[in-house]
Amino acid sequence: MIYEKTYNDIKVRIENLEMQRKRDVLRLLYLLSLFIMRTRTVGGKDIEMRYSLWLKEHALKALIYYGITRGLFETYDYAPALSIWGSLTRFINTSNEAERDLAKLINNRLLQRLRLATPTYRYIFAYRLIDDEVEKLLTEMPEDIKRDVEEVFKCPFCGDWKNVYIKFECERHGSEKIIPILYCERCKKRIDKLPEIPERGIDGILHPEDVEYEIEPVSIHEFMEEEYRD
Ligand SMILES: [Zn+2]
Repeated sequence: MIYEKTYNDIKVRIENLEMQRKRDVLRLLYLLSLFIMRTRTVGGKDIEMRYSLWLKEHALKALIYYGITRGLFETYDYAPALSIWGSLTRFINTSNEAERDLAKLINNRLLQRLRLATPTYRYIFAYRLIDDEVEKLLTEMPEDIKRDVEEVFKCPFCGDWKNVYIKFECERHGSEKIIPILYCERCKKRIDKLPEIPERGIDGILHPEDVEYEIEPVSIHEFMEEEYRD
């Protein structure tokens, strides 16, 4: 009986994890749509068409990082990884779980990935949603998933998420180091780093956290003797 209980526990845990992962894929998709779907009017004033822009890899990674730090995703984490950032290569906080889900969206033909050359002949990716397929999914998407994402990315001053953009600023004039910021076009303000909130803003992606290690030399002979003493 103990065996059966344990087996069921594990089954429930796996099912819960699967549910959390599915919700995270939907949040990721909705996050993408917020920042890259735009509306344009065609054929006079009557017909509004939604279309997708291309979003560069470093912008997407910054948005995902910000989502993780604000508790948006249930199953995503981040760790420092070497990556192309603008025209430089540097360590940035990257989510392997999000990368896996982006690959899933590409396989399911919801997302397109394009390889671009930078002015310094390095290659980066840009992402675009495949409009028709995504539109269908967005209309069917649970409202609470949409709300989760909108809450994280809305402007704290005007409460709206429709005028919030990701922008990049040079660290210093002429510097190749670019820093992401979230900006509300309506309030003309940076919104991701507020004086009253002490945590880092979206630029925290550029500050991999140091993990402290305690190192002491180990003699292989002593180690083997200890391990196999009995
Ligand atoms: Zn605002």
